[in-house]
Amino acid sequence: MDFTIKTYERLLKSFLTNGYSLITYQQYCKQKPEGNFVILRHDVDEIANNALKMAKVEHRLGISATYYFRIVKQSNQPNIIKAISALGHEIGYHYEDLAFTKGDLQQARKTFEKNLTYFREFYPVCTVCMHGSSTSKYDNREFWRAFSLSDFGLIGEPYLTTNFKDIFYFTDTGYAWDGGKYAVRDIVEDSFGISFHSSDEIIRAVEKGDFPPQCLMLAHTLWSDNIMQWTLLHIREFIRNNLKYLAMRNKFLHNIYGRMVKAYWKR
Ligand SMILES: [Zn+2]
Repeated sequence: MDFTIKTYERLLKSFLTNGYSLITYQQYCKQKPEGNFVILRHDVDEIANNALKMAKVEHRLGISATYYFRIVKQSNQPNIIKAISALGHEIGYHYEDLAFTKGDLQQARKTFEKNLTYFREFYPVCTVCMHGSSTSKYDNREFWRAFSLSDFGLIGEPYLTTNFKDIFYFTDTGYAWDGGKYAVRDIVEDSFGISFHSSDEIIRAVEKGDFPPQCLMLAHTLWSDNIMQWTLLHIREFIRNNLKYLAMRNKFLHNIYGRMVKAYWKR
């Protein structure tokens, strides 16, 4: 079974035993590392409790990762953020202010600052990462046309400050490492021309020395060892992927899907 906590642990171990350092996004920005490394980034879109399980596995293996939390209730769970920070991981803000303020930049600046101050109660946040907000017509990154990272004491934003020419980006969006067609905004220009479907494929490539030396792995927090949760999430993701895919091509479905998403996330 793929996308379980056990598989996640095997994946991490394969990098560790094959000469990769596993680092946070903040470390990437500050140290400009060389050699083989994987930047470990987690977008905690929801099910924050699973994030803690993954954080514990990493901690046991001596790894620190970056966890980006949203302000919505499904992600923003103070006790979980506290616990993950206490394990030595980096905490960042998974912002979506421009989508929430429907493109109002000044209003977005206010909420961005307020939310950043809130997350800094848990950790000295110095990197942030946009949430894709696939149903909104506003791209959260447009925020940076008006403001700069240093205005907020920040040093990094994966979509803006990563050298994707040299760094291979791979993500588990939609429960597959090659599910890029379901992603609306969280995609980057790819100069590698390779893809992997399952975690086992990645593990085999790493073991054979066929995997890019420098990468950024985005793992969401839907990995689960609970078979019931695993099955329900897989069914939901299958439906969601297809809805999202169709909604990108059909205006009527796009409106309905947008309303469903809006009703789901609680602020
Ligand atoms: Zn997100």
